[in-house]
Amino acid sequence: MAHPHQRISLTPHDRLGVHRRDAVWLDDRWQQAGTRVLPVAGGRVRRTGRDEGGGPAWTSPDAAPEGRRVLLGERDGTTSFAVMVDPGSVDEDDRSWAALREMLPVVDGHPDAPLVLHAVGLGEWLAVTRFCPNCGAGLEAAASGHELECPRCGRRQFPRTDAAVIMLVRHGVPGADDERCLLGRQAVWPEGRFSTLAGFYEPGETLEDTVRREVAEETGVQVGDVEYFGNQPWPLPASLMLGMVAEATSTDIVRVDDELEDARWFTRAEMAEQAAAGELVLPGGISISRSLIEHWYGGELPGSW
Ligand SMILES: [Zn+2]
Repeated sequence: MAHPHQRISLTPHDRLGVHRRDAVWLDDRWQQAGTRVLPVAGGRVRRTGRDEGGGPAWTSPDAAPEGRRVLLGERDGTTSFAVMVDPGSVDEDDRSWAALREMLPVVDGHPDAPLVLHAVGLGEWLAVTRFCPNCGAGLEAAASGHELECPRCGRRQFPRTDAAVIMLVRHGVPGADDERCLLGRQAVWPEGRFSTLAGFYEPGETLEDTVRREVAEETGVQVGDVEYFGNQPWPLPASLMLGMVAEATSTDIVRVDDELEDARWFTRAEMAEQAAAGELVLPGGISISRSLIEHWYGGELPGSW
């Protein structure tokens, strides 16, 4: 069964990877009637208008700005490209460009969401990955912006993805009235805001070990079984969030590191009551965190960030 957050994957585009090195084919598609182009500057997308409701500003190839062409792919017979504009040429204060975080509420649930995430993920990576980590030479783009090659030593770079786990930690008999889940909050968040715990994967770990280590580091709670829930691309700037449901084998909260200001256990009744009263504010609909919490709760909860 698809979890709600997997709606991003309901409308994937055909990435047409086999054509990325075919200059003739790429040029042909660029000139095809109906082809559309999304201008991207690093981690920002050009949007329609300058206000917060503006969506991605697709344009025709003729009207596209100068920049590196990147093939995104095809959906419903339409080919989509991104054009990577030099981020240095775009004013920081120019409101006609939006960071992905501002754009997310607009593209949430929209069929173009996978295209926008694809474009911004590559835009960010291409903008910050400029020199070969092996020999220091300047890198050259290949495969329609999906690879970077070193002209001196030949080493190739692929788009970077940082794996992170995000976990709903539960304790007690599943479905019982006194079953509880563990949420935490950071000091910088507005009052009442809580979310699932999360952390970055480290080399050599299994994902289950990452979950156990992060939960122990942040709260002192011990975790036994870990089950995969689902995933969410999160190119802010380069994460893949791997959602997990973790079973706690202890309940004492001892905040070991300084990442969290507070961590608490909630029963379903406490969660519903506090969310309805606005005392507990949960993450918004697009996040896998929301899906994890509502999956455990067994339904929709009121209010969000
Ligand atoms: Zn090199």
